[in-house]
Amino acid sequence: MDYKALADLLFPNVTETPEEVEARFPARELPEGAVVSRMAPSPTGFVHLGNLVQGTISERMCHQSGGVLFLRVEDTDAKREVPGAVEVLINTLEHYNIVFDEGTTIDGDKGNYGPYRQRQRASIYHVFAKKLVEEGQAYPCFCTEEELTAMREKQEAEKVNFGYYGAFAMWRDRSLEDIKAQLDAGNPWVLRFRSTGSIENQFKFDDLVKGKLTITENDIDHVLLKSDGIPTYHFAHAVDDHLMHTTHVVRGDEWMATLPFHIQLFRALGFKLPKYVHIGPLMKMDGTSKRKLSKRKDPELALTYYKAEGFPIAAVREYIMTILNSNFEDWRRANPDADIDTFQFSPKKLNPAGSLFDYAKLTDVSKNVISKMTADDVYEQLTAWAEEFDADFADKLKAEPDYAKAILAIGRGGKKPRKDIATWQEAKPYMGFFYDEYLELPVFDEKFENETVLTALQKFLDRFDISDDSGVWFEKVKAITEELGFTTDMKAYKADPAAFPGTVADVSTFIRQAVTGKQNSPDLYTVMQILGYDRTVERIQAVMETLN
Ligand code: GLU
Repeated sequence: MDYKALADLLFPNVTETPEEVEARFPARELPEGAVVSRMAPSPTGFVHLGNLVQGTISERMCHQSGGVLFLRVEDTDAKREVPGAVEVLINTLEHYNIVFDEGTTIDGDKGNYGPYRQRQRASIYHVFAKKLVEEGQAYPCFCTEEELTAMREKQEAEKVNFGYYGAFAMWRDRSLEDIKAQLDAGNPWVLRFRSTGSIENQFKFDDLVKGKLTITENDIDHVLLKSDGIPTYHFAHAVDDHLMHTTHVVRGDEWMATLPFHIQLFRALGFKLPKYVHIGPLMKMDGTSKRKLSKRKDPELALTYYKAEGFPIAAVREYIMTILNSNFEDWRRANPDADIDTFQFSPKKLNPAGSLFDYAKLTDVSKNVISKMTADDVYEQLTAWAEEFDADFADKLKAEPDYAKAILAIGRGGKKPRKDIATWQEAKPYMGFFYDEYLELPVFDEKFENETVLTALQKFLDRFDISDDSGVWFEKVKAITEELGFTTDMKAYKADPAAFPGTVADVSTFIRQAVTGKQNSPDLYTVMQILGYDRTVERIQAVMETLN
């Protein structure tokens, strides 16, 4: 077979040589050991936690080593592409602070190794495809769907491996005449790799996460170019990561199955193989067993979920690091205020079997993160969240910023800041009562007569003085307790509850409920200080009227 003639027949318009293309993508000038990696998502419109995990790993490896992180959009599967998906992708990643040094942006490409959208690189792939054909390493296949189905049925009946290989590779050794005839008839074709591998052979391979592996050679003549001339993932991966000088490929371990082919393809093309970081899936507990997080069953897989719930970005990033590197939590305890990016991330510490996602733990981490923010920070982030998800609340926060900040400052600062909320969505239930329109009428414990509650509230009003300090304020509450015949001795009460009609805690709760509508609230003395004398009194009086 005259492979040169075949190559010219298949790619008459390709005049550039691989060397000429390579000259357009010169080696990067980076310090020794610098990692060049990428995020290479497909624009399906669904950005998930797995994307963020992958992006975080790539980002850390690149930026910790003085390397380069770029964004490449893998849009070779036009059928799966959703309009606007690239924008959603870029905005979401930006929202989570994954900063790219180059690649696709909303305003076009940034960087010298583009285009960064694969469909715009078709002519580049064709140069390397032509080279493979010239060398007899690739060939056109004109099989129809029916023929491929028949092949599969035959393989099923014969109980042999599926795929286009060996004797099943119908177009592997066809003559130039046969190929010409098909081309003349205008029949569609795909370009296939001519595999020289055998499943009898194995070789050793080192993955940065999975460790030392024994890999079986690939014997399948996989498709390189689809009938529209657009490459498959495999071919685009080899060509792009070679030309863009990727040193580390960080990707989901669903690609392990085709890794033997990728290694073979890099060799066939004469490319240096990058290092591979194959990350396990995100798992969650389902009853007593673990399973992969699923798009269908688990809303928490979608990144939009975290935004809508109002998890601060810092909390999500903190949590991701917690599940990726087991030593992160110890580091955080030792460095409570350090910038997360000063933690030394290591891909070697990733669990090869995947990470366990635990919602309760995320909530915990988030409470901690929020408790350490300043009131100003909380105000900014909460308001931004509310503008998108609760416009009415946003209006209230913005109408009186100082009032909102005073509320948000309660319990903040000091050694043991309060951990009241885990998400911005929880802010309104927590502090909404400060706004009259969100105030709810209290429901008092049925154990107490209305009369008792009324008496307690009246006694409080009789001596309430906004200028009291918290000590005097509490002494007054205790005095009311005694006057009602309730006890201030919580120990004695616990030992024999039946001996007392109520306690100082009950009296505090009556007042708390009258002022906040709730049984639990931030420190009541401070709440009253923020509401001021008139509003506190008005609220108590209004509740007393409902009890009369
Ligand atoms: N487009 C591929 C995916 O979304 C990228 C895998 C890779 O990073 O190479 O799974």
